[in-house]
This record gives sequence, C-alpha cells and structure tokens, in this order.
Amino acid sequence: MLTNQHIAVIGGDARQLEIIRKLTELNADLYLIGFDQLDHGFTGATKCTLDEVKLTTLDAIVLPVSGTTIEGEVETIFSNEKVVLTADQLKQTPAHCTVYSGISNSCLNEMVAEASRTLVRLFERDDVAIYNSIPTVEGTVMMVIQHTDITIHQSNIAVLGLGRVGMSVARTFDALGANVSVGARKPEHIARITEMGLKPFHLSDLVNQVSHLDVCINTIPAQIVTSQVIAKMPSHTLVIDLASKPGGTDFRYAEKRGIKALLAPGLPGIVAPKTAGKIIANVLTQLLIERSQNGKENTP
Ligand code: NAP
Repeated sequence: MLTNQHIAVIGGDARQLEIIRKLTELNADLYLIGFDQLDHGFTGATKCTLDEVKLTTLDAIVLPVSGTTIEGEVETIFSNEKVVLTADQLKQTPAHCTVYSGISNSCLNEMVAEASRTLVRLFERDDVAIYNSIPTVEGTVMMVIQHTDITIHQSNIAVLGLGRVGMSVARTFDALGANVSVGARKPEHIARITEMGLKPFHLSDLVNQVSHLDVCINTIPAQIVTSQVIAKMPSHTLVIDLASKPGGTDFRYAEKRGIKALLAPGLPGIVAPKTAGKIIANVLTQLLIERSQNGKENTP
C-alpha cells in the first residue's frame, strides 16, 4: 500500500487516469494538477494548482510520458491552464522526493539536476518499452491502413532499427503477410533479422534499399531517412516515423518531393490509453512501493 505517501500527478493524457486509479486504490494521498476539466472524481485525490500544493510534503511527482516541453511546460489535456514546473519548485520538495516521467529532455534533466532530485525515466526500462511496443505496433498498423490504398499483405515494408519497437513492428507486419526488410547497423541485429526469417540490410546501404518500398517505418531517433534516401523512394511510398520528436526523417524534403511522411508520436496514448496507462501504472506503483518500503532515509 501507499498509505501516507503524498504524490503529485501533474498533467498528461488519458493514460494518467489509469495511474491515478491505481494510486488511489493503493491509498496514496494524491494532488492532481492540470486536471480541473476532468469530470471524474477520485477518492483521496485533490484537484489543485501547482501553487496550492504543499511541496514540502511530497514524496513523488508523476509527470506525463513526455515529461516537460523544452520550456518546462507540462502538457495536459484536462486543463486550459498552463502548468510550468521549475527547479525552484522542485527545490522546495523533500530531498527524497522522486520525479517520474516516461522520457525526458535537456530542460527536465537540468531542472532535476539543479534541484538535486532523482528522475526516473520509466521508458528507459526494457519491460516498459517492450510492453509499450504492443499498442505502438497496433497504432502503426492503423496508420498504414489509413494512409495506403493497398493491403499490408504482399506489400513491401522496410523497418529501420531493431530495438524494442522495431522488433515488434517487423514481426507484426511479417505476420500480416508483408514482405518485410529490416535495416540495422549491428552484426547481431543483422543475425537476429535473418533468424526471424526477414530480409536484413545494413543501414549504410539504406539508400539502395528503398526503390521498391510501399511503406518505410522508422524507429531510429536519429536523422536516417535523409533527402538522399527519400529521393530514391517511389512517389507512392508512405513514411511513418515512430521515433521520438523530431523523428529521423527529412520531412521538408519529403513534402517537396510529394512523399507522404508522417511523424507519429504517442501512438499508445491514442489507440489504447487504458492499456498504455496500465503498463505505466503497474511499474510506477511497484517502484513507489519499493521506495516507501526502503524508507525515506535510505533514498537519495
Ligand atoms: P531502442 O530499443 O533504443 O531502439 C532504437 C534502435 O535505433 C536500435 O535498433 C538502435 O540500434 C537504433 N539506433 C539508435 N541510434 C542510431 C543511429 N544513430 N544510427 C543507426 N541506428 C540507431 O528504442 P525503442 O524502444 O525501440 O524506441 C524507438 C523510438 O521509438 C524511440 O525514439 C522511442 O521514443 C520511440 N517510441 C515511439 C512511440 C510512438 O508512439 N511513436 C512509442 C514507443 C517508442 P543500435 O542498437 O545499433 O544503437
């Protein structure tokens, strides 16, 4: 249980509702910031603004998957109020107060470092990233269906990257009957792609691997689908970029060439917010319980 644990949940989308539900079930004392337009009430949870929270009592702060914007703003779909987190606010929390987010950026990293608090990026964990790849893939299938006029079956699809998302994407499109090739740079990834019965290619050869593609799905968070690569694609190729913002595609060049290229962030929150929220809630509550059991005095 999380009895007497004071936790601020700041902003987010429908995924946070699962987190709030689970935290209230575990009897935590919750402050909900950026939820003033949420009709639903949760027992043990108080809707308030960041200024109204007693920061000195907080054991944990839960941010959305995206963390903050580069200006420190915490995005929320449940309020029109702008919520901005600052290092000065974090400094007012107790030393053991831990900040949880999905991913982070330089702004959040610097803010937490300046306040000497601990930041836990849940999406760096393999378990969270692998579970989360399931709704990500379902959202990708949805997008491919929405934006093409051909079946996935028998279509030529390249997946770039064989990480946690890339592997799930490649396997799913293969199971749907597509001709899947996968680009990677590590020999062990090339070996794994071969073992999966898919067509491997080295990313250094990407420019020569796209002339027959119907769909190119990028999962690599680096500039990889460059103008040189796009120039070799047929005009009907659909590029779906799953990598976190700003993605790995030269979108301006794609537009100039008339190639449809879509950055598709946050698919789990769009296609399956309840499942995606549960994935985060399960791991988050496990970590919070471990921390509370270890005792505040033992935490950094
Ligand atoms: P991951 O497990 O770290 O995989 C990333 C892959 O990119 C690895 O295969 C890695 O290969 C490769 N890579 C990284 N930098 C590279 C570079 N400079 N050149 C060539 N290859 C490079 O990450 P993930 O969990 O699969 O997530 C992939 C991306 O999708 C992330 O940006 C994540 O934030 C995003 N994501 C998006 C959604 C969505 O809804 N759109 C959902 C979940 C995740 P090496 O091992 O060779 O480095």
